[in-house]
Amino acid sequence: MITATKVKLYPNQAQRVLLEKHFGSTRFVYNYFLAKRDEYYVAHKGAKKSSLSYFDTTKLLTGLKKQYPWLYEVNSQSLVMSLRFLDNAFKKFFHKNADHPKFRKKGKNDYFAIPQHVKIKGNRICFPKFSEGIRFKGSEEKLSEIKDIRQIVITKDAGDYYCSIYYEVKENQKVPLSAENSVGIDLGIEKFAALSDGILIENPHFIEKVEEKIKRMQRQLSKKKKGSKNRRKLRLKLQRKYRKLRYTREDFFDKVSTAIAKRYGTIVMEDLNVQGMMQNHHIAKSIGDASFFAFKQKLLWKADKYGKNVVEIGRFEPSSKLCSRCGHFKKDLKLSDRIYHCDVCGLTIDRDLNAAINIRKMGLIKVGLVQPEFTPVEKATSGLLGLYPYRQMSLVEAGSSEASAEE
Ligand SMILES: [Zn+2]
Repeated sequence: MITATKVKLYPNQAQRVLLEKHFGSTRFVYNYFLAKRDEYYVAHKGAKKSSLSYFDTTKLLTGLKKQYPWLYEVNSQSLVMSLRFLDNAFKKFFHKNADHPKFRKKGKNDYFAIPQHVKIKGNRICFPKFSEGIRFKGSEEKLSEIKDIRQIVITKDAGDYYCSIYYEVKENQKVPLSAENSVGIDLGIEKFAALSDGILIENPHFIEKVEEKIKRMQRQLSKKKKGSKNRRKLRLKLQRKYRKLRYTREDFFDKVSTAIAKRYGTIVMEDLNVQGMMQNHHIAKSIGDASFFAFKQKLLWKADKYGKNVVEIGRFEPSSKLCSRCGHFKKDLKLSDRIYHCDVCGLTIDRDLNAAINIRKMGLIKVGLVQPEFTPVEKATSGLLGLYPYRQMSLVEAGSSEASAEE
C-alpha cells in the first residue's frame, strides 16, 4: 500500500530560483499541451483519430524543448509528469467526472512531481537537479527508513515550499472482524463525532477561532485599494491563515483518526458521499469544505495502517430516528432535537450518541456478526478520554442515567 507524508522545505536562494523554474516550466508545458489537445480536437472532430494521447504529447515535448531551450534547465521527468497530470485531467473530463481541464495560473496551486531518483539523506531530500539536497523539517515518520519512494510532489503554499513523499509500506495483516472492540461513529454538525461507546468529540475551538480571523481579514482586504502594496501584503497574510486552518484541521483529523484506528478493531461508519451531503442544505453549511470526506479518507488510511476493519453502512439508513434500545422508529425526530427521547421504552439519550450506537449495530448486522434484533443499550465506557487534548464528554451525563441504571 502507498502512504504519504509531507515535510516543509527550507531551500537556499539558488534552490528557490530553481524550484520556481520547475513550477514555471511544468505549468508552461501543461498549458501548452492543454491548448494543443483542444486545437487538435477541434480540427479532427469526427476523424478516426480525434484526440491527442498522452503518448503523442510526450513525443511532441521533445520538439518543444528544442524550440524553448530553457526547458532543459529543469528535470525532464517533471515535465513528462505534467503531461501525465494533464492526461488524467482529460480522462476525468471524458468520463464526466470533472469539468474540462483549466489553464494553470502562476501562484495558484503551484506544484511539480518527481517520479524517480529521490533519496533522503539525513535532513535533506535529494532528487535530479537538486543533487545536493534541500533541507526539510517535520515528519512523524522516520524518513531515513523509507526504502521505496514512489514519487514526490513539491508544492508552494503562501510563499513556503512543501514536499509530499509517497512511498510503499508493507500492508498490515488485518485483525479479524469482531463485535468485540467495535465502534460506530456518527459524524455530526453540533459535535464533530459521537462514538457508540459514549465518547463525544467536540469540534475543536481553535479552528473556529482561525475561521473568525479569516473572516475579519477578508473584510479588511475588500477595503484595500486594488493593486496596492498593502493589499498584496494582506493577501499573503490571509493565504497564510488559510494554510494554518488547513493544517490545523488536518492535524486534528490525524490525531482523532489515529486514536480511533489504534483503539478499535472494527469501525463502522456511514458511507459518506459528499455530493449527497451537499444536497442536504442543513449539513452542507457546516461541511462546505467537505471536511467529513477528508476525515473519512484519513480514517480509512489509518485503519489500513494499523490493520483494522472499516465497515460502511448506507447513508440513508435511519440511524438517527431509531431508538437504540428498543428499535422504535421515531418519525417526527427533528434536526433541532439534540436529545432523543423514546416514547415507547423511555430511553433519553444524546441524539448523536443514539445514532452512533445504531450505526455500530447496523454495521455488525451487515457483516453478520449480530442478529438483526435490538438488545438493550450496552453500558457506555469512556476509555478514550484523555487520549487527545480536546474537550470531550463521556456518555451524556444528563441522558444516560437510564442506560447505566439497567446494569
Ligand atoms: Zn425505545
